[in-house]
Amino acid sequence: MQIAELFKTRRPLFSIELFPPKTPEGVSKLKEKLDEIAAHSPDYISVTYGAGGGTRHTTREICAYVKQKLGIEAMAHLTCVSHSSGEIGALLDDLESDGIENIMALRGDPPQGQERFVPPEDGFAHAVQLVRAIRARGGFGIGVAGYPEGHVEAPDYQVSLRHQVEKIQAGADFVVSQLFMDNAYFYRWLEHLRAAGVTAPVVPGILPAVSAKGIGRFAALCGAKVPDQLRVGLERFEAHPESASAFGLVFAMRQIEDLLSQGVDGIHLYALNRLESIRSVSALVAGYRIPSAGAARG
Ligand SMILES: Cc1cc2nc3c(=O)[nH]c(=O)nc-3n(C[C@H](O)[C@H](O)[C@H](O)COP(=O)(O)OP(=O)(O)OC[C@H]3O[C@@H](n4cnc5c(N)ncnc54)[C@H](O)[C@@H]3O)c2cc1C
Repeated sequence: MQIAELFKTRRPLFSIELFPPKTPEGVSKLKEKLDEIAAHSPDYISVTYGAGGGTRHTTREICAYVKQKLGIEAMAHLTCVSHSSGEIGALLDDLESDGIENIMALRGDPPQGQERFVPPEDGFAHAVQLVRAIRARGGFGIGVAGYPEGHVEAPDYQVSLRHQVEKIQAGADFVVSQLFMDNAYFYRWLEHLRAAGVTAPVVPGILPAVSAKGIGRFAALCGAKVPDQLRVGLERFEAHPESASAFGLVFAMRQIEDLLSQGVDGIHLYALNRLESIRSVSALVAGYRIPSAGAARG
């Protein structure tokens, strides 16, 4: 089922993002963990796509496992990095043959060692072109990435917002946000998207921090600001990783509770393949699940 259909039957949706492990042993372990993750009833599971090399085929393998073995909707991330449009077409055919019906359409970050994104020959320069190509082909629901604080490469927030709206107008069904740690950014961005005529679901992406260094690294990569309260709290527990991770989860849960109380369309959990956060977040989202306005209207 395409995820757009899920949004019509229930909200808020609860989705989990996983990354493909690098080794066959890691893949086996993740599959075991997925059986446990399934017990927390995510509406769908998305699997990231590497910048190149070893794990790209694993995205497809994990998605197929989620869909075929667990009966949960899967969303395969796909980027424009190093792919011609012909290769993208072949990858979509492969995913379709595995029963995958949803794609997170991304430009992707430049591969390691490359400072700027270089469009591949006969490939796409921006996610909007990938969205158009998938829409023209048909057969898939499409999610796109969004940036409450603006994309790091955009000259300013307004330009980032304009490109965001273009991607949705090109045929995306819904938006999943980049991680943010201050909900005020998400609410401002959502207001601007709605004012620009976007009616598609816009889902906040939340990453529970596990250490000051870790969250600092993620934040620097994507240009998100780390609130002092979170940074100082994590630094206090630097010598106690378990306490730091508990503190990060409590911070994220407060963020999520506030977002749910404001009626967001869903919660997308950047789970980093960890079970602890999945347990807590799924229980909280379940408490807020009510028939969607659309479903109530029948
Ligand atoms: C939910 C989510 C999941 C992600 N999953 C992955 C993953 O699996 N693998 C991975 O490698 N990365 C992933 N990323 C990171 C993402 O690839 C990066 O943020 C990347 O830098 C931008 O991708 P995009 O699809 O948003 O690109 P785009 O929407 O193409 O935007 C990239 C930049 O180009 C600009 N731009 C867009 N359209 C135009 C235009 N028409 N003309 C001029 N400029 C334009 C934008 O303003 C922006 O600065 C994910 C991000 C999110 C939020």
